Amino acid sequence: MKKGIAFIVVLGMLLCGCSAGQNNNQTSKTEISVQSQVSEESSEESKEESKLPEPESRDVFAMDTYMVLKAYGNNAKKVLEDAENEIHRLESLFSVKLRDSDISKINSTSGNPVTVNISTRTAIEKAIEIGKMTDGALDITVYPLVREWGFTTGDSDNEPSYKIPDQWLIDWHLGNVGYDRVHLDGNIVTLPTDFEIDLGALAKGYATDAVIQMLDENGIDSALINLGGNVYALGRKPDNKKWTVGIQNPVDKDKMICSLSVENQAVITSGNYERFFEADGKKYWHIIDPKTGYPADNGIISATVIGSSGLDCDALSTALFVMGTEKAIEFCKNHKEIDAVLVTKDMKIYVTDNLTKSITMEDGLTYEEIKR
Ligand code: ADP
Ligand code: MG
Repeated sequence: MKKGIAFIVVLGMLLCGCSAGQNNNQTSKTEISVQSQVSEESSEESKEESKLPEPESRDVFAMDTYMVLKAYGNNAKKVLEDAENEIHRLESLFSVKLRDSDISKINSTSGNPVTVNISTRTAIEKAIEIGKMTDGALDITVYPLVREWGFTTGDSDNEPSYKIPDQWLIDWHLGNVGYDRVHLDGNIVTLPTDFEIDLGALAKGYATDAVIQMLDENGIDSALINLGGNVYALGRKPDNKKWTVGIQNPVDKDKMICSLSVENQAVITSGNYERFFEADGKKYWHIIDPKTGYPADNGIISATVIGSSGLDCDALSTALFVMGTEKAIEFCKNHKEIDAVLVTKDMKIYVTDNLTKSITMEDGLTYEEIKR
């Protein structure tokens, strides 16, 4: 089904989960498509597929990422326009680069209390909660280190300046890391002096939920949104079949490792293959281990979390990546409410038990089940 292949390639370019100026690689980390287009099924199926109505579609560039919003329904055009505005509103609060954002205000006056918008407060609250739940694998105060390595989130005015920081600098910044030192009192946030935070690990997940809530409240019951690889499938396709979301192969970006059949779920991946640089023959990526100050290199190269909350899935996918193979598997065993697909450096794939009915592996790939 050649049309399907072309469709995927086009999507791959559109949905790049990273900024044009900041990455060494230009394909998306999670591709979305309707089932027959992924699996190259019979022409009968493709004929059926073509009977599907055209969704309303909107391309957005925000949060340093290409986003595509697709929705079915009479008022879809207007709702998607509102959704785009909401994404920009959240970016204006969460960006570490925009001078007037809540996060910039917090970072530039660390040591002093700052009153923030309710959305910022909710996101910080969740970040602290998941920081605790993951024993600090997710830690929004790791930002000075993220910046030191040359990885920033937010808008992309400047070219990245990737570098391996001096060890003394890493050690110094490590002294100012600790999610439990972020003080929240209602909408007032206070950081210790020299601390800085960054919501990059969960901002797109927050925006995902905000968009889905908006669609839902406006009567849209079928939509597929992709905020730079953070995918949410609302309801089912108009033909009443579930949506199919593919997970990209972290070592061969033109391929997938598997696809998942989903409905009312987010599918969110953290990987080491989209924002990285190479120096002295070694690869360094944008997810930092708050314990070492170095890019997290604990065995996992891609962690996908599947669930009903985009915010939780985004925060947890980053955390599982940081934890590494053994701890992430253990974490999944202790948290039955979480579903995940983990890919290790040696291309072993671990899948939580709830997913076994909805997952289809690519030819030649197998997985080990995480039983709970
Ligand atoms: P992406 O934003 O590429 O989808 P993630 O959701 O995993 O990927 O978030 C990575 C971003 O989160 C980094 O760019 C950085 O801003 C921030 N970050 C990096 N390491 C951590 C960490 N250990 N805890 C919290 N945030 C982090
Ligand atoms: Mg994340």
